[in-house]
Amino acid sequence: MRSIVTGGAGFIGSHLVDFLVSSGDDVIIIDSLVSGDKNYVREHLEAGRARLVSADLLGDGWQEELDGADRVYHLAADPDVREGSADPDRQLNNTIIATHRVLEAMRRANVTEIVFTSTSTVYGEASVIPTPEDYSPMEPVSVYGASKLACEALISAYCHSFSMRSWIFRFANIIGARSGHGVITDFIRKLKENPGELEILGDGKQTKSYLEVRECIRAIMYVAGHSSDIVNTCNIGSEDWVSVTEIADIICHEMNLSPSYRYTGGRRGWIGDVPRMQLDISRLKEIGFVPGINSRESVKIAVRAALEQ
Ligand code: NAD
Repeated sequence: MRSIVTGGAGFIGSHLVDFLVSSGDDVIIIDSLVSGDKNYVREHLEAGRARLVSADLLGDGWQEELDGADRVYHLAADPDVREGSADPDRQLNNTIIATHRVLEAMRRANVTEIVFTSTSTVYGEASVIPTPEDYSPMEPVSVYGASKLACEALISAYCHSFSMRSWIFRFANIIGARSGHGVITDFIRKLKENPGELEILGDGKQTKSYLEVRECIRAIMYVAGHSSDIVNTCNIGSEDWVSVTEIADIICHEMNLSPSYRYTGGRRGWIGDVPRMQLDISRLKEIGFVPGINSRESVKIAVRAALEQ
C-alpha cells in the first residue's frame, strides 16, 4: 500500500511509520516538524523505505503527494490540551482547518480511506465511566476536545458525501518512547531540575487510563483491518487506570528519588483537564483486539524509555 502519514515525524506518528514500513508499505510522511523530529524516522528515510515532505498542512505544496495513495493516516495536530486553552486560534487552525485541508486534498486526489487520531477528551467530563463510543451528550471541556470532535464530524460528512471510509480512534493517554509532552515528561523534567521537590498540578487524584504507544499502533492496524463501516469509531485504551500521584511514585522509584510532593490544588491540573477518564474498550475487544498491557505497565515502560531518552 502507498500510505501517507501526516505528523509521521511525531511521537505516535513515528511509531506508526515503523509499523507501516515493517509491513512493506510505501510511506510518505508530511510533517512541518513543529514538534516532530526527523531523527525518529531517519533510519527509514536513509533506507529509502519512507520519504519526508517537510510541509505545514496550513500551507501548500504537499497536496500532490496524495496522488496514487491508498490511505491517509492523519495524525498532525497540536496535541497539547493546556496549550490549546492558552491559544485557541492555533489549536483550531492546526486541528480543524488542517483536517479540512487534508479531506479536500483527498477528495481531489481520489483517496478514499482516512485513519484519524481523535481523543477521549471529546467526551468531556462523562457521567458514564468507563465511557463507551455512543455516550452522549458529547460536551468537551477543552478547545482541543472540541476541535477533535469537529474533525470527527467533518470526516463523517466527507465519508458520506464523497464515498470515503474512515477509522476514527479515540485515544486514552498514549505514552512511550519519543513522547515530548504529558505528565511523565513534565515530572521527569521537574525532578531533574529539582530532585528534592515535585510540583504536581491539581490534587494528584486525577485518574486516567494509559496505553503504551506500540500497543496503540497494533490496535489501530488491527481495527483498520477488521472493520469496514463507512465511519468506524473506536476507543483505544487499557481497562484500568492510575492516578497522577501514583505516576509520580513510579517515576520517583525509577529515578531512585524521594522528593516531597507539592500539590497546586483543585480537581483539575489545568483549564480543560478532565479529572477522571477511562474508556470502555468493549468495541475494540469485540472487533478482536485485547490490549496485552495495562496502564501501570504502560507507565513503567514509558518512564524507563523517557529516562533512557
Ligand atoms: P506530536 O506532537 O508528537 O505529533 C504531532 C506531529 O504533527 C508532529 O510531528 C508535528 O510536527 C506535526 N504537525 C503539527 N501541526 C502540523 C501542521 N500544521 N502541519 C504539518 N505537521 C504538523 O503528538 P502525538 O502525541 O504523537 O499526537 C499524534 C496525534 O494523536 C495527534 O492528532 C493527537 O491529537 C492525537 N492524540 C494523542 C494522544 C496522546 O496521548 N499522545 C492522545 C489522544 C490523541
